[in-house]
Amino acid sequence: MVSLDYAYRRLVNTLGPERVARSEFERMVYSHDFASLPKIALLQWRLYPDFVVLPQTTEEVAALVNLSDESQLQITPRGGGTSWYGGTVPNRGGVLVDMRKMNAILGLDADARTVTVEAGATWKDIEDYVESKGFTLPVVPTNAIGSTIGGAINSGATGIGGVRNGSLRDAIRNLDVVLPDGRILKTAPTADAGGSLADLTALFFGAEGTLGIITRVTLRLVPKPDVVKPIAYAFPGLAAGARFLRGLLDAGLSPHHAILIDREHFVFERALRPDSPDPAPIALVAVRGAKDDTADQERTVDGIASKEKATKLSPEIADRMWRERYNNYSARRLSRGLIVSYNLVPVSRLPEAVERAAEIRDKLKLNGAVQAYLVDSTTAALVPYVLMDDTRPSGGTALGFAKRMGDAAFKMDGHPMGLGLFFVFNLRKMHGRATTMVSAVKAVLDPRKKINGGKTFEVWTKYPWPGLRAIPPPGMAVGLEIAAILRRAKPTRDRFVRAYEHAKEE
Ligand SMILES: Cc1cc2nc3c(=O)[nH]c(=O)nc-3n(C[C@H](O)[C@H](O)[C@H](O)COP(=O)(O)OP(=O)(O)OC[C@H]3O[C@@H](n4cnc5c(N)ncnc54)[C@H](O)[C@@H]3O)c2cc1C
Repeated sequence: MVSLDYAYRRLVNTLGPERVARSEFERMVYSHDFASLPKIALLQWRLYPDFVVLPQTTEEVAALVNLSDESQLQITPRGGGTSWYGGTVPNRGGVLVDMRKMNAILGLDADARTVTVEAGATWKDIEDYVESKGFTLPVVPTNAIGSTIGGAINSGATGIGGVRNGSLRDAIRNLDVVLPDGRILKTAPTADAGGSLADLTALFFGAEGTLGIITRVTLRLVPKPDVVKPIAYAFPGLAAGARFLRGLLDAGLSPHHAILIDREHFVFERALRPDSPDPAPIALVAVRGAKDDTADQERTVDGIASKEKATKLSPEIADRMWRERYNNYSARRLSRGLIVSYNLVPVSRLPEAVERAAEIRDKLKLNGAVQAYLVDSTTAALVPYVLMDDTRPSGGTALGFAKRMGDAAFKMDGHPMGLGLFFVFNLRKMHGRATTMVSAVKAVLDPRKKINGGKTFEVWTKYPWPGLRAIPPPGMAVGLEIAAILRRAKPTRDRFVRAYEHAKEE
C-alpha cells in the first residue's frame, strides 16, 4: 500500500484540491448514515474514511476506481447517505466517493417518455423537473428529498406509485456504471451498443454499491395525472388499518399511495408540533386520475374504510399528510438517534405483521412507531422505527429490534431489506441456494473486492490479520440477539420526551 500522503497527492492531481477532503471533521461526517451507530462499532470497524472525494464526471469516477489499484485503498460509494445499515460508511477507511456533485438533469425525451439524470440527483429534484414538463415519475421513494437515484437503485428501493406503475427496477431504462476494473458499462441493449441483447440492469438493482458505481440513469416517465387526491382515515386499531390497506387491493383499486401510520407516530409529532393530527392509527390514501374518476375512487375507498369502522379525517389533514409524505422520521429530533427496520411482507399477512411489529417494540421496551405502505399488488413494506440514545451504554441494544423484526418478516413469508454491514447473516436466508450465484457475480466483477468490500456478502473488521479480519455472519446475528435480550432486560423505556409519557398515560 502506498503512503496516505502519496495517495492524497494522486487524488488531488485527478480532481483538484477543492474536491478532495481529509480533515477530521469531514471524515467524521461521512462515518455515519441515517441510523445511529453505537460507539462500540468503532472497535470493530474503521468507519472514518481516509479521504472524501467529489467526482463530477463518469471519467473522473473511472479514474478514482483505477487509482484504487495503485493505493490499495477501499472505495465506498455514497449518495445521500440516508440508508440505515452501514452500507454507505467505510469499514476499513479508504476513499469515500460522494456522488452528490453529479446531480445534473441531462434531458427529457418527451417522445420516448424518458428522463436522463446523473446518479447523484435527488428524487425530489427530478420529480419537480419532470412535473414541470407535464410528466411524473412512476415510483418515488418516500425519502425523495435526501435520497439520490443511484443510492435508491443500489438499495433496491420501493416507494410511492409502485402499486399503479410497477417497481423501480422496471422504471429503469438504462444505467451507466463504472465497473470495478474502470470500464464503463451501459446496461440496457441499445442500437449503438453493438446490438447486444444482454440487459444487465437488474444486476445492479439492490447491489448495495458492491458491483460498480452508477453514474447516469435513464428512467421511464408516465403522464402527469389531472388530479392527485389525498384522503385520510383514523382507525380503531392498527390491524383494522392494515385490513383496510389490503381491502383496497381486494376491491381492485390501484391507489397511487396507501400508507398506515400508528398512533405513537402522531404522539411524537404532537410533541414536535402541537397542531398535528390527534394520535390514532391513521391511513393516508392518494388516488389519482381525471377529476370524475378520482371522485368515484374516493367513494369506493370510503366504503372500504367504513367496514373497518374508520373515521374520515378532514381534507386539511389529508392534504397536510400528503405534503409531508417525504418526512417520515421527524421523531428523530426527540431522541439522539433512530433506527428503522425495513421489511417486505405479503399484503395478505399485513394485519398480523403490523401487530407483530408493535409487539416486538413493546417487548423490548422501546419507543417507536409502526408504518407500512403498499409496494405493489401483492407486497407491503413494513417499516417500523424505534428511537434510541446512542450516547448511553444501553443505546446500541436498540439494534436488536431490527434483528428481531427481520426474523419475524421471514416467518411471515417476507424478508428484511438491506444487508450493509450489520445484517449480512440474512444473505443466505434471503437468497437460499442462489447465494453462491450472487457471491460469484461479485467475484467476477470485483475480484479484489475494492468497491464496498467486506459488506453485503461478508463482514470485514478493521483488522487485517488472519483470524480477526472478518466476523462470521452468524456471530453478528448472535451479537444482535444478545443486544435484544439486554434491551428486554432493561427495566424502563428511555425517556425522550415528557409529552410522550404523558400522552401514554391518558
Ligand atoms: C426518511 C427516509 C425514508 C426512507 N424511505 C424509503 C423508501 O420509501 N423506500 C426505500 O426503499 N428506502 C427508503 N429509505 C432508505 C434509504 O433512504 C433509501 O434506500 C435511499 O433510496 C438510499 O438513497 P441514498 O442516496 O441515501 O443512498 P446511500 O444511503 O448513500 O447509499 C445506499 C447504498 O447504495 C450505495 N450507493 C450510493 N450511491 C451509489 C452509486 N451512485 N453507485 C453505486 N452505489 C451507490 C452505497 O454504497 C450504499 O450501499 C428511507 C430512508 C429515510 C431516512
